[in-house]
Amino acid sequence: ALELKDIYKSFDSGSKQVLDGLSFTVAENEFVSIIGPSGSGKTTLFQLIGGLEKPTSGEVWISGKPTTGSRGHIAYMPQQASLMPWRSVAANIELALQVAGVERKASGIAAREWLDRIGLLEYADSYPHVLSGGMQQRVSFLRALLSPQPLMLLDEPFGALDALTRQQMQRWLMEIWEQNKRSVLLVTHSIEEALLLSDRIMVLSSAPAVLLEEIEVPFARPRSPQLWKEPLFNELK
Ligand code: ATP
Repeated sequence: ALELKDIYKSFDSGSKQVLDGLSFTVAENEFVSIIGPSGSGKTTLFQLIGGLEKPTSGEVWISGKPTTGSRGHIAYMPQQASLMPWRSVAANIELALQVAGVERKASGIAAREWLDRIGLLEYADSYPHVLSGGMQQRVSFLRALLSPQPLMLLDEPFGALDALTRQQMQRWLMEIWEQNKRSVLLVTHSIEEALLLSDRIMVLSSAPAVLLEEIEVPFARPRSPQLWKEPLFNELK
């Protein structure tokens, strides 16, 4: 589904080399984690895949075609929650549902049901700035999960969350991914999280980043009994 071909990226007219010849593929429905030191270029990599930046050289291919900044195939959840500040929380979710083909009226009802599931129904009519950073991250994550794109890029989606909420979100990601598989590329600083969630882990060096190691995760899912035994989202309400 995603193929990177010898990607180089530098900033400041070449004086700052960030990515140093990265090549890898993510197969259809494969769940891959990326681990790398801070500043190694993971966010830059996502911006290249998402078409927000251009590589200095090399090509990004999605669904068998080189990309030219087309973002139609990608659900991108950046590190900073990126909800539309001029729309209510519910309206942010409604829009994602409408993009996924849900009719306008049905999307209003469904958005509230989803917000209820993540424990944020009382904020449905609030604007995003009223929510805490972790709450915004939950809504932003929900929006990425609901969008229909075949490739999902998640840049530390659980970073600002407390341990309990993080576990809930991980479980939710796994449930939705198992029901409706797609390719996922997840940046995380947690080896535990990468082992829990992904099929394969890619380890990047510090900048200029090269691929140091690729590890296939051999364990069958589900990989954490705690993650699965409780009914979903009870604790968040
Ligand atoms: P972290 O784990 O801390 O989020 P990261 O691996 O995502 O880091 P990036 O944000 O991709 O790292 O940054 C990699 C390097 O590229 C950094 O040194 C950063 O300063 C540099 N960089 C990123 N964007 C730009 C830009 N637009 N102009 C100049 N330098 C940039």
